[in-house]
Amino acid sequence: MNDFPIENLPYGAFERDGDVHLGVAIGERIFDLHAAARARLFDGVCDPGVLQASVLNPLLEKGREVWHGLRSRLQALLSDEQEAGLYVDGGDASMRLPVAIGDYVDFYSSENHAANLGRIFRPNSEPLLPNWKWMPIGYHGRSGTIVIDGTRVVRPNGQRKPSEASTPVFGPSTMLDIELEIGFITGAQSIFGLVLVNDWSARDIQAWEYQPLGPFLSKSFATTISPWVVTMEALQPFRIAPSQQAPSPLDYLRIPDDASYDIKLSVELQSARMRERGVAPVTISRTNARELYWTFEQQLAHARSNGATIRPGDLFASGTISGSDPSSYGSLIELTWRGTKPLALPGGERREFLEDGDEVTLRGWCERDGLRLGFGSCRGRIVPRDQVAAGTSSHDR
Ligand code: CA
Repeated sequence: MNDFPIENLPYGAFERDGDVHLGVAIGERIFDLHAAARARLFDGVCDPGVLQASVLNPLLEKGREVWHGLRSRLQALLSDEQEAGLYVDGGDASMRLPVAIGDYVDFYSSENHAANLGRIFRPNSEPLLPNWKWMPIGYHGRSGTIVIDGTRVVRPNGQRKPSEASTPVFGPSTMLDIELEIGFITGAQSIFGLVLVNDWSARDIQAWEYQPLGPFLSKSFATTISPWVVTMEALQPFRIAPSQQAPSPLDYLRIPDDASYDIKLSVELQSARMRERGVAPVTISRTNARELYWTFEQQLAHARSNGATIRPGDLFASGTISGSDPSSYGSLIELTWRGTKPLALPGGERREFLEDGDEVTLRGWCERDGLRLGFGSCRGRIVPRDQVAAGTSSHDR
């Protein structure tokens, strides 16, 4: 089923004629905003220069009124067939990062995930630390290594300390993992839209480096996002009541606009051997954005509560989204319980963590009363460092 009906209209950036154009996904095609602005189709709604930029940042700066006007105009235009030159085939398009991402923050807002990692990393203490239910915990990540869907992920090198060894060793991570997350992109004053995020994580490097200051090189080597930004306006029909928060949050986090979102999520895995044999990717997890304890609006309120400036084009990821059932965990460290319960793949392979050649695809979609709004895919394939040194392409298509 198609992800991009007229009720969706997510924004992205793609290559055309040696340039990067902004576009809107509609059905199997992309409507070229650059070309449409040149044809003066948005006069009175939005300055053409904003739509002829190669990233969404100038549009993000405009704020809700312009976003709403643009969406209304697009819905009117795309209800009819426009001239052929204004479209490109979505399947053939080479997508680029839609936003010049300024700051990148990663939260830790799923209670099931935080408790599972507490049990795994600190087996002899309370799963949740005392601050967790009082504020959305997070850290600042590395925006410079955020990459688009389809970009290969090089297995990171790092320092790790095997439990039986007296000194650490340096080399390729042997516990490479995924994290299924949703990220929001900020505009002027408010959240513009959402993307899928895979926060690739090297668990062996993380376990050795994370105390006392938190994750650093175990997560900064690559973070993949989906190419289409699904707007908050499109997601309005899928707002749902958030889960009960107890204790009641402090005043600055008790904000009226605190809805959760009903967004279905899945993780697919295909090994190199499966690909060679024509075996389709297997779904290893299914969960939902409603599993987040802290809402996006609370995360944003917390991030700016100390007076820090939030800029249009910042990315805030939710943290791994895990449900309560083991089939709904959003990372391999939870799905395999740190490798003690390997996953069985079609053809007899087993997985504790990611092997070279494994390809992971995150998907997200909202569905109700016959209406489906999708996010597209958030995909990455693991390659060893020596293969990259040999000069292979950084992209899979
Ligand atoms: Ca994360």
